[in-house]
Amino acid sequence: MLVTGKELVGKAEKGNYAVGAFNAVNMESAQSIFAAAEEERAPFILQITATTLKYTNPKELVALVKALIERASVPVALHLDHGRDYATVLKFLRFGFTSVMIDGSLQTDGKTARTYEENVEITRKATEAAHLLGVTVEGEIGRLGQIGVDITEEDAALTLPEEAEKFVKDTGVDLVAVGIGTHHGLFKGKPIIRHDRVKEIAERIKMPLVMHGGTGVADEDVQKAISLGIRKVNIDTEIRVAFIETMKKEIKKMDDAHRQADASEGIRKYDIRKILGPCREAAKEAIAAKMKLFGSSGKA
Ligand SMILES: [Zn+2]
Repeated sequence: MLVTGKELVGKAEKGNYAVGAFNAVNMESAQSIFAAAEEERAPFILQITATTLKYTNPKELVALVKALIERASVPVALHLDHGRDYATVLKFLRFGFTSVMIDGSLQTDGKTARTYEENVEITRKATEAAHLLGVTVEGEIGRLGQIGVDITEEDAALTLPEEAEKFVKDTGVDLVAVGIGTHHGLFKGKPIIRHDRVKEIAERIKMPLVMHGGTGVADEDVQKAISLGIRKVNIDTEIRVAFIETMKKEIKKMDDAHRQADASEGIRKYDIRKILGPCREAAKEAIAAKMKLFGSSGKA
């Protein structure tokens, strides 16, 4: 069941839980997300980045995901993660996405910051186009911590509540990604969620908030942030870790079997499914655990 992002987060707002947003990059990762959602009876957001569509032929991955959506018995929104320019947003609207993120906080290189005015301009333009088609828009205000981006002061990555309020008015977005202490990817040290900041922003703008970079954040911190107004949580790195760590183990198992086969002059078997099947299963488990944590299990 394909729905808009707004519908999903609106229900989460009423039920005081958060919807998980998970990234698909290939068939197995997409399947793991759908399988977890079916098992958990959890509504969810399937997201794809522009970079992923460059890795594959866009039409192929989108067709695969749409086939999975057709079979799904839980509501799902199809979302563009971190669209950084107008053309990218338009491209995804043409693909039939029901939700898009226009991330105007950084330029298309994903590193150089845009000014507030530049962010507003690109976000407003993308929002107008998406809204004409009834598509939900997620904006971003204040840089989220990003690997490879210098953030000298701890506060530099935090969203200012008054700026968030102005941004929402200036752009018309439906939900907003905020800097609250989390960072993308894996990094040294423990992230500290600034719950005071979540509360302040949520009270001021009365709009569903999005948490990016949730990997490594303590479970109780995630739940507290949800209780304060986070309605969409993006999870990518943790799934990649589950997938790739399993892949390493399975490849080692295959290597060991090959060594034994060599010793007994047997056959070396190369079966891609023997590697990717367990990866898909491990990713599914990781995703299902997140759905439970976010409170979205059983809400479909
Ligand atoms: Zn993100």
